[in-house]
Amino acid sequence: METISTSCVIAGGGPAGMMCGFLLARAGVDVTVLEKHADFLRDFRGDTVHPSTLQVMHELGLLERFLKLPHARIAHAGIDLGDEHFEFADLTHLPTVCKFIAMMPQWDFLDFLSAEAKKFPHFHLMMQTEAKDLIAQGGKIAGVVATGPNGNVQIRAGLTIAADGRHSTLREKSGLKVMELGAPFDVLWLRLPTAPGDPVDVLGKIRDGQMLVMIHRGDYWQCALVIAKGGFDAIKAAGLSKFRTRLKEIAGFAAPRVDDAIKDFDQAKLLTVAVDRLSSWARPGLVCIGDAAHAMSPVGGVGINLAIQDAVATANILGPVLQKGVARFSDLKKIQARREFPVRVVQAFQVAVQNRILAPTISGGKTPAAPWFLKLFNRYPLLRRLPARFIGMGVRPEHVRIDRK
Ligand SMILES: Cc1cc2nc3c(=O)[nH]c(=O)nc-3n(C[C@H](O)[C@H](O)[C@H](O)COP(=O)(O)OP(=O)(O)OC[C@H]3O[C@@H](n4cnc5c(N)ncnc54)[C@H](O)[C@@H]3O)c2cc1C
Repeated sequence: METISTSCVIAGGGPAGMMCGFLLARAGVDVTVLEKHADFLRDFRGDTVHPSTLQVMHELGLLERFLKLPHARIAHAGIDLGDEHFEFADLTHLPTVCKFIAMMPQWDFLDFLSAEAKKFPHFHLMMQTEAKDLIAQGGKIAGVVATGPNGNVQIRAGLTIAADGRHSTLREKSGLKVMELGAPFDVLWLRLPTAPGDPVDVLGKIRDGQMLVMIHRGDYWQCALVIAKGGFDAIKAAGLSKFRTRLKEIAGFAAPRVDDAIKDFDQAKLLTVAVDRLSSWARPGLVCIGDAAHAMSPVGGVGINLAIQDAVATANILGPVLQKGVARFSDLKKIQARREFPVRVVQAFQVAVQNRILAPTISGGKTPAAPWFLKLFNRYPLLRRLPARFIGMGVRPEHVRIDRK
């Protein structure tokens, strides 16, 4: 078997892995990122680049070039409960360079980041290379065994970072304990066309037991239909016509576009939702970050940004250590100590929305009454800055502290 040696191997070229690889290579650390797919072209991966991530891009001197990539800008978010509309987030006053969410295909973001990372001599990206197992040696993890285009390969490293997402192979192999927080729903992603005069916003719609989130993407609406956990087979069994009717009931102004847009079930992509968290994120020689450490619900659309924040914190903490030598277990534990609080707060919010709004909506078949705080946001627009801050910047935002070398 071919053997490669590196200071740090990162499994997963998603937002967490790619940003961490970029930052460590920028700091002069030899880093190898493994991505199991041949490219980053996967639809509906979550395309929200929040103000906190844009701030990181600014701190890295990348923002100007990054914003030259095609993107839509979203500065407000609202929700329709039955026929009533509530505005609940206004990002235009955030204390960040960008006071908006950039909607950009995640593959453009990852292509951009990997192209920038490749400018550093210490950055190595192995595409089509899937981490299959951990190498254990002398009581610690010493790298991974992966399968690549030319067969199996051993990547030996002083530090292994699992950034391989919510179905992480490495966290399973590590034996680290997962706490399931539960998600009573799945999501069907689909597209509807936009038309002149449509609002350029993120819209949530709840009506008669249905929930649809619509994200304006320029020439199309990216729509997330919330369905009961495991409910897609029953929807398919009921037939396309019923599915279209269901969509038309909730799509509001976009309802007349449904019949032309949805021709078969292949246009609806099922994403199963999980919310969980590791009780301990690290073992000697191994640390998990991003969804591998804490799978996020799509509620609030903040998972990518938490993954990026994990990457920044990891590089801030481990970069200076790796510049001099090997990270100790005590160094790895500092990442969880730094990041667990923001993750807990966001997951608690997501679980509360799931249990108090989504689950009763799906199972009750009714439009829920507007909660008091939504009414307050309509009456006092200044209050919309608070959810904007939570969604846009998150809890305890990270800043790049590790210098370029
Ligand atoms: C339905 C749904 C919608 C969502 N929408 C949004 C949204 O709009 N905005 C948002 O911010 N968040 C959203 N999220 C959450 C978001 O997708 C995740 O929180 C975020 O992508 C986590 O980033 P990550 O880098 O940790 O993992 P991922 O993005 O999952 O990246 C992991 C990478 O590792 C690769 N990989 C996996 N296994 C291996 C392996 N063994 N070896 C090598 N490579 C491997 C994968 O191909 C992938 O590229 C959504 C989640 C769901 C379920």
